[in-house]
Amino acid sequence: MKKIIAGNWKMNLDCKNSLILADKLNKILNIKKSRNEVIIFPDFSSLFLVSQAIKDGQIKFGSQDVAHKGLGAYTGEVSLESLKQLNCKYILIGHSERRQYFADNDLVADKLFNVIKNSKIKPILCIGESLAQRKKGETFKILEKQLKEAFSKLKTKDLENRNIVIAYEPIWAIGTGLVAEVEDVVKAHKKIKEIFSKMFRGSKIKQVKVLYGGSVNVDNFLNLQKLQEVDGLLIGGASLKAGDFLDIAYNF
Ligand code: PEP
Repeated sequence: MKKIIAGNWKMNLDCKNSLILADKLNKILNIKKSRNEVIIFPDFSSLFLVSQAIKDGQIKFGSQDVAHKGLGAYTGEVSLESLKQLNCKYILIGHSERRQYFADNDLVADKLFNVIKNSKIKPILCIGESLAQRKKGETFKILEKQLKEAFSKLKTKDLENRNIVIAYEPIWAIGTGLVAEVEDVVKAHKKIKEIFSKMFRGSKIKQVKVLYGGSVNVDNFLNLQKLQEVDGLLIGGASLKAGDFLDIAYNF
């Protein structure tokens, strides 16, 4: 199974610098290919420029979010229709920063429904517990709650032949330099797959991949590479440095 190395650029780069980084990564990956699927997530305003720059290249791109509804009166939103036209391959849904600052908890189910029912784009659903929840021993309960809520509007048959990607991102590990212990990552990934297969027992889902995200960098990614439960990585900070991101993309 091809693993995924995804770089979430968040709102760290403007259009000019997004284009420079995308172009650099694309050129290098076109010369020396990675065995992994490498995806970058620029901000909305850079998507068109980046899509043109990396067209037909090895690297793919995705969107950091999507509107919860189809075209209409939703000021400030970005439609699934536009993302399809840009040839976007992946969409992040429910990133913890969206949940924390933009009330996305209430929209995750509609966003996932919109993407799955109306496109072939692969959603990457982000879930994870806070430090307080972890301390209370509620990690698995939270993962189950978030998974059930996110998929609450979809039926088993909606997922037929779909690739589902879930990113396990403990909130306390995002951008903090703290990485979850490998034993905890293994347990969480196993639990996510178990909950998911119970939720959609008997469905003909093509593939379910579980990525880990949370302060992954060049110094720690090899600890995660050994784990067969980890189908890839979602990387924030370290994805902004071409050398570091490529090091991970080539060696994971
Ligand atoms: C993220 O934003 O999804 C993330 C994992 O960030 P970082 O790698 O910086 O912790």
